[in-house]
Amino acid sequence: MTATALPGTQHLVPVYARRDVCFVSGEGCELVDDTGRRFLDFTAGIGVNALGYGHPVIRAAIEDAAVTGLLHVSNLYRNRSAEELAELLTARSFGSHVFFANSGAEAVEGALKFARRAAVGESKREIVAVRGGFHGRTYGALSVTDRPDYRRPFEPLVPGMRFIDREDPERARAAIEVERTAAVIVEPIQGEGGVRPISSEFLGVLRDCCDAAGAALIFDEIQCGLGRTGERYAFEPSGVEPDIVVLAKPLGGGLPMGAVVVNERIASMLSPGDHGSTFGGGPFVSAVALACARTILEPEFLSTVRERGNALATRLRSLLARPDVVDVRGRGLMHGVELDRPVAPVLERAFDAGLLLLQAGSHVLRFLPPLVMSAEDLDRGLDIVESIL
Ligand SMILES: *Cc1c(COP(=O)(O)O)cnc(C)c1O
Repeated sequence: MTATALPGTQHLVPVYARRDVCFVSGEGCELVDDTGRRFLDFTAGIGVNALGYGHPVIRAAIEDAAVTGLLHVSNLYRNRSAEELAELLTARSFGSHVFFANSGAEAVEGALKFARRAAVGESKREIVAVRGGFHGRTYGALSVTDRPDYRRPFEPLVPGMRFIDREDPERARAAIEVERTAAVIVEPIQGEGGVRPISSEFLGVLRDCCDAAGAALIFDEIQCGLGRTGERYAFEPSGVEPDIVVLAKPLGGGLPMGAVVVNERIASMLSPGDHGSTFGGGPFVSAVALACARTILEPEFLSTVRERGNALATRLRSLLARPDVVDVRGRGLMHGVELDRPVAPVLERAFDAGLLLLQAGSHVLRFLPPLVMSAEDLDRGLDIVESIL
């Protein structure tokens, strides 16, 4: 990674520290660069490419769209794929209705707007968020993200946001108030913040506080949801039900798509004109997303993710015997290994060895492989990581 412009990137706004590699194709869980070199992918495009590259169900959905010619029709007309996808996301769950957006941040914006729209009372505008969370770069989403270096250059942000620490029930009880609080937003497993699962107990405290205050509980499952943990929703094992869930990263099968899943109470407070998006949930992205979600939500697919996730956890936890490994956290195919030093050199050496790996903060190695990764590929990548450490 470099701060100076790589050859060829001089006309791109320099907001990304790009690596000097250009991928030209992908197959399964491997990417191929323009020199023909193959890389094993433990990043899935930051949790996006759940089905890896060139998956037949995605290929078929793309080919169908090319035949019908329907890439876009407006949201003033019906759209079967979007309707079926909404059914899939809400069936036998807390949710009853879905709004489709074009990205994670946009889904968060929708959730915050819906929560304020559904809050009864003039003064009930405040959103409570949890420190260490990440919700996106647009103004509303950034306003509920506490990282100073992301926020400060862009202030003033949206007013009416308040932060609490994770796992601090006292502070949560004090901050969530009936007169002021419209909603609480939290990632059940904080991703960018260092792969930190929030305890079921603390999620339960947030649920109780929201019930007492008449506030909406929003779970940001943009990174941890839709199969990443081996469940449809990452919150499921906690037994704590939210009012709103936001999804995005893996949802569009690689295409940009976000979703706000809401329960009956929130949906009943919304009417035509309250919110909208020109592109959100168009026929092409919805068709690809539907094919992707149908594949991921098959019980057998999810149980394979749990199995791979257990294998990943077992091998990563064995690293705890090393003195430089501080902690191993996560669930399913979302794990973090915290080292006692910055992990950037480890990513560098992994890249040199043909393995793409992420970090989450300066000291945490983040593992987000495609959900279709075989046991052999998982072991092959972990062998590389172990040899580097
Ligand atoms: C990536 C991410 C977002 C933002 O999604 P974008 O599509 O980049 O806007 C929000 N919340 C979480 C938990 C994320 O991981």
